[in-house]
Amino acid sequence: MGEQSNLKDKIEAGLRDEDSRRGRQKALSVIKPGIVRMGDLEPELRDRLREIKESSLADLSRLLDEAVCSLKDNGCRVLVADSHEEAIQYIKEIVRQGLVVKSKTNAGQEIGISRYLKEQGAEVIETDLGDRINQLAKSGASHSLAPAIHIPIERVAELFSSETGEKLECNTEVLVGAARKNLRGYLERADVGITGANAIVAETGSILLTENEGNIRAVSGMPPVHIVIAGVEKIVSSLEDALVVARAAAVYGLGQDIGTYVSVISGTGRCGGSTQQEAAGGLGPREVHVVLLRQGREKAIRDGFAPALYCINCGSCLNFCPVYTEIGEKFGSKYLGGRGAVFAAFHDQLQKAEEAGLDLCLGCGKCQEVCPAGINIAEMVMRLRAKVVEEKGLKPNKRLLVSLLTEDDPRRKAESARDFLKTAVSKDRLFPEVAKRTFPESAKGRSPVENPVLRVSFFAGCGVNFLRPQLGLALLDVLAAQNVEVVWHENEACCGMPLLKNGAVQEALALAKRNIALLAKDDCDYLLFVCPACAAAVKNEWPLLAAREGTGLAKQAQNLAEKVMDANRFLTEILALKGEWPGGKSKVTYHDPCYLARGLGVREEPRRLLQAIKGLELVEMAEPDSCCGFASSFSFDYYDLSKRIGLRKAEMIERTGADFVATSCPGCMIHLADGLHHLASDKRVFHTIELAAAAVKGGSK
Ligand code: SF4
Ligand code: SF4
Repeated sequence: MGEQSNLKDKIEAGLRDEDSRRGRQKALSVIKPGIVRMGDLEPELRDRLREIKESSLADLSRLLDEAVCSLKDNGCRVLVADSHEEAIQYIKEIVRQGLVVKSKTNAGQEIGISRYLKEQGAEVIETDLGDRINQLAKSGASHSLAPAIHIPIERVAELFSSETGEKLECNTEVLVGAARKNLRGYLERADVGITGANAIVAETGSILLTENEGNIRAVSGMPPVHIVIAGVEKIVSSLEDALVVARAAAVYGLGQDIGTYVSVISGTGRCGGSTQQEAAGGLGPREVHVVLLRQGREKAIRDGFAPALYCINCGSCLNFCPVYTEIGEKFGSKYLGGRGAVFAAFHDQLQKAEEAGLDLCLGCGKCQEVCPAGINIAEMVMRLRAKVVEEKGLKPNKRLLVSLLTEDDPRRKAESARDFLKTAVSKDRLFPEVAKRTFPESAKGRSPVENPVLRVSFFAGCGVNFLRPQLGLALLDVLAAQNVEVVWHENEACCGMPLLKNGAVQEALALAKRNIALLAKDDCDYLLFVCPACAAAVKNEWPLLAAREGTGLAKQAQNLAEKVMDANRFLTEILALKGEWPGGKSKVTYHDPCYLARGLGVREEPRRLLQAIKGLELVEMAEPDSCCGFASSFSFDYYDLSKRIGLRKAEMIERTGADFVATSCPGCMIHLADGLHHLASDKRVFHTIELAAAAVKGGSK
């Protein structure tokens, strides 16, 4: 339980930090629209970056050798460091007790270079404005590119006033001017400049750096010695590829076309500048050292986590991550956010990944969508959680959930669910009770469809079976009205998605096997769902799980995966359903469930379904596809954070002025209703299938 209680402390601190929250919101409200706008203008940039990263990583050992040769040909001294200790030792010997000016270097931060240099008596000055503020405030970074957004301007004025010895006005221009003047003094006197690298070109031995403040150019050009610290994954084949990296960093970092400064360094000062004055006069440093860090990266590649190394540290994933949005830098470690937890597993150990918040990722997948390299953090998080379970077994609270979800008798399962909810649901949470009758019990005795035009199979899922049987009944109503016969199973097992999310792979496989045996007998062309998490499990996860058991089961799982169809899609594409809303003209807004929008790519169909209902007007909310914060067991384990995410969503819904909200997931329904309840809103939440049922029946809501 240790990591979990530490995480709870971090969450609490994050939720309490109002300064950080305000700063973050202000920064994100500016950065996010810029990234979306620029990303839309440059759709091919992502593909190009991904191709470059894939091919560079696939050819890493050759490119590394080539880069080392080219860098040396340019007069650079090169160390390929296997570990952080090796890198630190090398840099400490160059720096000794000198004055070091430093700009952003992620790899430098990863190895904690500033601390080691200070310990041996060197003076280290950060030159990035945000990093300098943090250094003076003795604070850590709260964002990859805007590291001091958690510090209010009034505090910045105090810090710079005490540093310069004059009372500075609380005004951005004044403060930036004062910081620049002060930093210039350090830059002119510095013995060593330390930078990172956005890319290193194997072919030419060039180091590419992009930025907006100009400090990196000064740090790399003014002191007589320049040290570059970069992970080996920064190596790309050509200068053209390096420029794509620089563009992606600008577009996805701050929504800019290109960074204000792009520097290409190809070796030492040509005229052999040996003093600060010569270097500052444009001659460049007399020594350039390039430290290329391996530190766990090859292990990441061996273990199938190579895409983690595609990261260009643009921070786009953070800007759109619901967890980061609420608790900022408390999510992650040396690298922030969900990717920080993933990187920690390789740069350090699995234990560090847990401390960084491996458990806090919602698995919503939004980060992959906005990542220029398309890194699937949620999938890597799931695999690492499975590794944790493999090494340490399930934690007690997870064991309880797993034993509930693997219970095969529906009556006993309902009883266990009642007991589970008594302890797992926070007192202030609005959460439905376990239904008196399960979906199969409620649906028993319905008249069969005569002369059906189609026969479909329906997988209800635990949410429908035990909490919201009315959703299954609504689907039966709509389909009966269209002469479609439905097959379902009384002893259906859980789809296994909540287990997979908690790393319980073996248990999820056992459930998949039970379900595959049941469903494979249905002679239907379509397997329908009103819960997208279940649909995503059958479509995306069962084939992978079944492949562990051999080709027979894998083939059955694949057959089922191909039949998966979300109910919205079935109603719009196959049945072209139309109806009339019985409640008079009403405005409805729609929330995209993560597993439906990103897991299955179903975004338009629910909207088309709503628009096919006469009398309903669809009004979009801001960020309709941002996660509601439910994320199955996450909302039980970390309710305070989950509630805050839900509240933000509820505010977006409220601002639309819609009469009610529709969604297509039983879990989202629960959490949206809870969020609206905490906002004291009287808006009701419906599943699209309920609205469709009311529209075809002409009943009243
Ligand atoms: S999957 Fe969602 S919660 Fe997890 S890191 Fe990505 S955006 Fe954040
Ligand atoms: S994971 Fe992707 S979005 Fe996040 S910092 Fe890395 S490259 Fe940028």
